[in-house]
Amino acid sequence: MKFYILFGPPGAGKGTHAGAIASKYNLKHVSTGELLRSEIAAGTELGKMAKNLIEAGNLVPDYVVEGMIEHLFHTTKGVAGFLLDGFPRTVQQAEDLDHLLAQRGEKVNAVISIMISDATVRERLKHRATVEGRADDASDETISNRIVTYHKKTEPLIAYYKQAGVYREVSGECGGVEAVRAQLFDLFNGMDTSFLGEQVVMDNALFDLLEQQAHDTPRLRMNYDLRNTTEDDSQRMLNVWLPGSKLEVHRHQHSNETVLLLKGKMDVVLYNDDGTEAQRIHMGGDSGVYGINIPKNVWHTVEAFKLAVTFTAKDGAWAPNAPEDILEVKR
Ligand code: AMP
Repeated sequence: MKFYILFGPPGAGKGTHAGAIASKYNLKHVSTGELLRSEIAAGTELGKMAKNLIEAGNLVPDYVVEGMIEHLFHTTKGVAGFLLDGFPRTVQQAEDLDHLLAQRGEKVNAVISIMISDATVRERLKHRATVEGRADDASDETISNRIVTYHKKTEPLIAYYKQAGVYREVSGECGGVEAVRAQLFDLFNGMDTSFLGEQVVMDNALFDLLEQQAHDTPRLRMNYDLRNTTEDDSQRMLNVWLPGSKLEVHRHQHSNETVLLLKGKMDVVLYNDDGTEAQRIHMGGDSGVYGINIPKNVWHTVEAFKLAVTFTAKDGAWAPNAPEDILEVKR
């Protein structure tokens, strides 16, 4: 996964260019400002809390935007990365983002800044107020406060990301929208774009993250889909199993299933049609067994006694087990 930050003062044109960049590089565009405005429009508790702060040109608390970002990182699938717009906006948010990404074995890949002067910020926000009617662009006082907030809280991020060696800048005043966009694409094209096919490193950081998520589900397991396009109808996934997780005894009528144990210890249990246990294969630990290919139509399940991480693969698009593919057994 790639993590890009589109940076710049209010009115720099982040929102104007983000869509085109995101669609070219298969990135999920996340604008915290847009997310907050949707919360306000929907009248949620979060929106009510954020409204006055935003309309006065102040920032909302770090934990609010960080909660939204974390949720999107967990739930977004099928993209090569994220294009963050309007986040982080404080050094604390940048540090928290680094921490969050480190837990996933990831990092901020580049910060692309669109720079404009304070005079241009003022001019653009005044103009935007007449076009979009945003409350936080409406008065000179709010605009001044946004400029002060930017210099005080957000500008220090430039030094933060320069130090990390990931800061790049283009001028947002070098011509019209097209000229700025051309500079942005030049920058992106010059960076490593080999991520266009999604790269996932299967390491302890990823397993730890899935383990945490598994703890929060009643099933005590969590899967991670390795497919990265909606056209991909294979089934390739990681599963993290916690002790006590129960998987129904089931079969696949149309495909073999390959199960490889990547970490920990577990049993794969095969059943006869009458629900009696046919074979128990210990995997991991001292067994020296790390994988099994379960033939079509064979009833099976998995039992984890310690944390276990598996890779499984089957043919065809995923579908829930049909009733005739589930076997009731006493366990
Ligand atoms: P924007 O659309 O990015 O200009 O954001 C509009 C307003 O939403 C900002 O002036 C802040 O009040 C709030 N906001 C957006 N992103 C953040 C953030 N990362 N941290 C704190 N407040 C934010």
